[in-house]
Amino acid sequence: AYATIPQLLRDAVSRYGPRDALIFPDARLSYYDLDRAVDALAAGFLALGLEKGDRLGIWSPNRLEWVLTQFATARIGVILVNINPAYRLSELEYALNKVGCKALVLAQSFKSSDYLEMICALAPELANAERGRLHAARLPNLRHVILMDEAPGDSGVWTFAEVSTLGGPAQQLRLPEIDRTLQPDEAINIQFTSGTTGQPKGATLSHYNIVNNARFVTDRIKLTENDRLAIPVPLYHCFGMVMGVLGGVSKGSALIFPGEAFDAKQTLDALATERCSALYGVPTMFVAMLQELYGTPRDLSALRTGVMAGAPCPVDVMKQVNDRMHMKEVTICYGMTETAPVSFQSFVDDTTQRRCETVGRVHPHLEVKIVDEAGQIVPVGVQGELCTRGYSVMKGYWEDTARTSDAIRDGWMHTGDLAVLDEGGFCSITGRVKDMIIRGGENIYPREIEEFLFSHPDVSEVQVFGVPDTRLGEEVCAWVVAKTSGGVTGEALRVFCDGQIAHFKVPRHIRIVDELPMTITGKPQKFVMRDRMIEELG
Ligand code: ATP
Ligand code: MG
Repeated sequence: AYATIPQLLRDAVSRYGPRDALIFPDARLSYYDLDRAVDALAAGFLALGLEKGDRLGIWSPNRLEWVLTQFATARIGVILVNINPAYRLSELEYALNKVGCKALVLAQSFKSSDYLEMICALAPELANAERGRLHAARLPNLRHVILMDEAPGDSGVWTFAEVSTLGGPAQQLRLPEIDRTLQPDEAINIQFTSGTTGQPKGATLSHYNIVNNARFVTDRIKLTENDRLAIPVPLYHCFGMVMGVLGGVSKGSALIFPGEAFDAKQTLDALATERCSALYGVPTMFVAMLQELYGTPRDLSALRTGVMAGAPCPVDVMKQVNDRMHMKEVTICYGMTETAPVSFQSFVDDTTQRRCETVGRVHPHLEVKIVDEAGQIVPVGVQGELCTRGYSVMKGYWEDTARTSDAIRDGWMHTGDLAVLDEGGFCSITGRVKDMIIRGGENIYPREIEEFLFSHPDVSEVQVFGVPDTRLGEEVCAWVVAKTSGGVTGEALRVFCDGQIAHFKVPRHIRIVDELPMTITGKPQKFVMRDRMIEELG
């Protein structure tokens, strides 16, 4: 077992040194290259005065610098804070101040957002600050701003390349062996949750939490040094940085990053040209890739396994992923940021049926229980709230004892998810406690209605949620994305439901929309849809 992130990297470098480690569209690094670049950056961070326990924020899409920063901070015990690439000014200010970041590593821009402009707006003092001596009124803890790209003119901003040379010439680098003093249970990463149900929460994770989870995830997909794993999911999220980077490195695999953010075409091209054998994604990404494959087929014959996680996968999508994408051994994972993240996963030889209907069986060294509203364990086959306990449970939400003690009780993480365990230990996630609709005293689980509507040939995506109703307490509402515009109407869908599902489950309000509000991790945000419907319905 590995106890810390630097140990994990050391081990990989000594075993797999000359092999491919990272492949970005504009860079290829072996494990040796990775190790050298990480040491140079870590030495630079030390030269800036960053110390063990300090927080360093990273705000960037998927880029090489992200992975280097991830390992370099860990090397010296600096806590990496993942900042959501979709954040805007006030959210950035909130996150940086919430955890007191002393340094921020950022990309110049991403999509239509100019990150540098935003940080300069928050800290106008940067224009005249001496580098390393920033004192900004709105960001009182921040001392260093490190730009991944060339800095425009002379300002208080460091460039990434510069910082990597501050520790001296690469050949003569002698990094203090801080990594040998790190303790497995020390905090090393603060990750914000996706924000699917509201304001994201900052989960504080230890080396031990994430390093071991990464290993168990890739054990289950039987990843080896001969695998080439494609990672189109965001690095900012545990799916990318823990299951992807740490998981892949623990096995000595080559990690392929198709682009800065998910793009179906780019990902499929990378899968084909790099002969990838494994792929990670959330269900909506697989849907987009399948759609793209219809237009332009590619040779994906090297694909074998991977992980589909983060949200429920429609049965039909799973079957197509098995057949058309060659991923017969794809596994489903269930997890959450707070548990580093995975707690359930299928095995590569579980039947398609099992992989469609369940999230597999529990990971090693974890306990699980399913409880009713009173906290009592329910019998096998009965739905309740899923709770997990063991090595992977986070240390807590950063400086938020109230929310932490609400989520973790007696060591048990209360997931907020509804689940059922069967006799074989297979777990089905049936929804979120928060999403359950209570209509006229009847409990309604949106997942069931979503599955049904999804079976309509013109439906591409569907989300079901409750909206307040004066008479019944709540009413069922559905947002639907059609396969072709004008392809389906709300009335047609209601007729489709008639006689097929109980009358009280038939959505009262159906909206055909062009797209769903999503988190950056690709999850539909029901709370946003609900708020818009409440506004619309008056
Ligand atoms: P927030 O907590 O900020 O509202 P979030 O819960 O979506 O957002 P994450 O930690 O990224 O943030 O996601 C964990 C959640 O994703 C789980 O609690 C669960 O609801 C859902 N989830 C994860 N994997 C699966 C899966 N395989 N099937 C169904 N749901 C899943
Ligand atoms: Mg959550």
